[in-house]
Amino acid sequence: MFNLGEKGAKINLLGRVLYEEPLSKHTTFAVGGPAEVMVFPATVQDLHAVWEFCQQHDVPLFVLGKGANLLASDQGLRGITVNLTTLNSWRFEGNLFRAQAGLSIDTAVELCRDRGVSALEAFYGMPSSVGGAFWMNARCYGREASEVFVRALVLDAEKGLHEVSFPASAWSYKVSPFQNLPGIIVEVTIQTVPQDREALQTIMNTNYNDRLQKGHYRLPCAGSIFKNDRRFHDPSGVIIDRCGLKGLRRGHAVVSDWHGNIIVNEGGASASDLRALIKDVQQKVYDQTGFLLEEEVLYVGEWVP
Ligand SMILES: Cc1cc2nc3c(=O)[nH]c(=O)nc-3n(C[C@H](O)[C@H](O)[C@H](O)COP(=O)(O)OP(=O)(O)OC[C@H]3O[C@@H](n4cnc5c(N)ncnc54)[C@H](O)[C@@H]3O)c2cc1C
Repeated sequence: MFNLGEKGAKINLLGRVLYEEPLSKHTTFAVGGPAEVMVFPATVQDLHAVWEFCQQHDVPLFVLGKGANLLASDQGLRGITVNLTTLNSWRFEGNLFRAQAGLSIDTAVELCRDRGVSALEAFYGMPSSVGGAFWMNARCYGREASEVFVRALVLDAEKGLHEVSFPASAWSYKVSPFQNLPGIIVEVTIQTVPQDREALQTIMNTNYNDRLQKGHYRLPCAGSIFKNDRRFHDPSGVIIDRCGLKGLRRGHAVVSDWHGNIIVNEGGASASDLRALIKDVQQKVYDQTGFLLEEEVLYVGEWVP
């Protein structure tokens, strides 16, 4: 433990700082205990100051986007949680779109549509920050975030603030090179190509309506819980359904009736309920099929075994 209050007073920030802020307010599962300190950087300088403070004082730092792929523990998170949603400026430079990591994907897509350029429209309706989408190498409707990645501005311990780019081979299904870097994605430069605004809007509407119809927004969730695995031939949701696990529950955590790979918080679920249910599904699928499904959702914080 460290006395963050005393040390924290030494950081001069423009952005907001909240103490014991419930993570349930910042995750799409709507669960999670308190973040000991949550910082909303107003500028890149703020982010740099927080990051430097954590390095110098050996304070754990967690980077939060939209919290759409996370299961945050009921115990919460020690140290500093940097909520990047306030770092959300952007600009076009010719055919490049430079977006700060906290910009929402929906806003990014709308900005590109207004300019008449294609980039991330397949991702419309996916709750995500720009940083989170590239960190996860998000995938929707046959498109991967990596396809439009040009370079990123990253903050890390070795080089401070600097630009990175990667060969195509560094990316694969739900794997990004950022997952092996300790740094924070500050800004992403995205490739765009001219496209008719109406055509873009049609793709956005189609994908958004498909998500609506698939029940993505019915109850708090984190999208797909398990990755798909080609070796298992069918998508994880189909396998879970075939194992008869739709409707399986732990407290108020339930495998949704409408999609085997979506687990929902029907109201009042704890993070422990959700985690136990995920582990239950994993075990039952393994027992019935021999397939070990790999979680896509990320567990953060401390967990009581
Ligand atoms: C209804 C619903 C539908 C979904 N549909 C899809 C889908 O179709 N396809 C898909 O791939 N996913 C989907 N997801 C999952 C989720 O939307 C994506 O994984 C999304 O990209 C996560 O982004 P985020 O900003 O919420 O990241 P978070 O969940 O906040 O963070 C995820 C990870 O990224 C790290 N991270 C985030 N930002 C940064 C940064 N700037 N620098 C360094 N690390 C960072 C975090 O530390 C964490 O480890 C869905 C989720 C929901 C709730």
